[in-house]
Amino acid sequence: METNFSKEQLKDKDNKSSEKILRKCVHCGFCNATCPTQLLLGDELDGPRGRIYLIKDMLENKKPANEKIVKHLDRCLSCYSCMSTCPSGVNYMHLIDHGRDHVEKTYKRPFNERIIRTFLSIVLPNPTLFRLIGVLTLLIKPFQFFLPKKIKEMISLMPLTFPNKTLPQMKVYKAQKKKSVARVALLTGCVQKVISPQINEATIRLLNRHGIEVIIPKGINCCGSLNHHLGKCDLAKKVFKKNISIWYNEYLKNGLDAIISNTSGCGTTLKDYGFILRSDNDFKKKAKKISELTKDITEYLDENVKLNFINKSENVKEYRIAYHSPCSLQHGQKVYSEPMNLIKKTGNEVLEISEGHLCCGSAGTYNLLQSEIAKKLLKNKIKNIEKIKPQIISTGNIGCITQIANATKIPILHTIEIIDWYTGGPKPKILKNI
Ligand code: SF4
Ligand code: SF4
Repeated sequence: METNFSKEQLKDKDNKSSEKILRKCVHCGFCNATCPTQLLLGDELDGPRGRIYLIKDMLENKKPANEKIVKHLDRCLSCYSCMSTCPSGVNYMHLIDHGRDHVEKTYKRPFNERIIRTFLSIVLPNPTLFRLIGVLTLLIKPFQFFLPKKIKEMISLMPLTFPNKTLPQMKVYKAQKKKSVARVALLTGCVQKVISPQINEATIRLLNRHGIEVIIPKGINCCGSLNHHLGKCDLAKKVFKKNISIWYNEYLKNGLDAIISNTSGCGTTLKDYGFILRSDNDFKKKAKKISELTKDITEYLDENVKLNFINKSENVKEYRIAYHSPCSLQHGQKVYSEPMNLIKKTGNEVLEISEGHLCCGSAGTYNLLQSEIAKKLLKNKIKNIEKIKPQIISTGNIGCITQIANATKIPILHTIEIIDWYTGGPKPKILKNI
């Protein structure tokens, strides 16, 4: 694609990177065929190619965002399905991030939207506040008919219970072998550790049992991606830098073999820290190292650990497990077969879901901000899951777990809970009746 940035404009590092990306696009439109919003809404501007043109026009012509542009960019899920399809290697992720930053800097959203987005950007990354709001939500739920539609929809997505932790909170979880074979840091996530602490507990137990020491440094809660995707780049960068400093110090002082993420949305952002801070002289080297160290838990296990699966006895029931591949994992991190390989090793049957490349509609805060589109995507996802009649659904991202669990009675587990169970951990409580 031909671009027309001036020399002056190209002195800006973000313009320079975006120009390189734009030049790779050959307008073929293959990406439109796998874009969930383009398929659903049928408008060229609700597909990647149309959005690329909108972003190009704003950046090249120094145009402030307007209502129309914002509508189409906001409808993008950041699912990156378009990146898996693009034959020219267009990095749409970096382009939409730049576009969202430009929107945030040049467009004043309506008052209600500003309030909701600010509320989400403060509450979701803070586990204490999130828990508090969760409890308040439970109290006002019986009276929700008084509230505006948007708030009611948000309330319906809040969890009904906040399970207790069963592992004590510690900085270091020692390996269950005399000498540990590796030392990793675990990102415990912000929302995940409040609504599903069992996912981190299964991860720690499994790693410790296989001789791996797990550390959870104090001060790291959110990875920063929630604010990053809301276009609140300055807020997000503060979090990125704090996390990088803490992990990098730990890496220098005591050594780290990996930084483990079991929430694939967060892992994708961690793997991008190096790019995001590429021009920051104080942080670029550290950020690059942190990105290199980051691994999704299934990627790490598949590559580095010989798992001790329990021998199947005749009493062990075999399940039909549908694997839902989170967009951030399959498209964002290109980790697709690893989780399925691990589940297959448990002796259970793994079922692939048709149209598995399409998003379930969760996408960070998308199901809260674009609920109509999110509901349609969820409906399609559930239809495709129920068609193959699984007994269990497995996936690797808390957002997908929450979204899908809202629409089906089939129990849904994080992949790591299944692997933990089949390597000597407890059977997940949610499966008590099957
Ligand atoms: S598939 Fe790639 S090259 Fe083709 S229009 Fe989409 S982004 Fe551009
Ligand atoms: S990230 Fe997803 S929703 Fe956005 S343009 Fe690409 S395929 Fe479409």
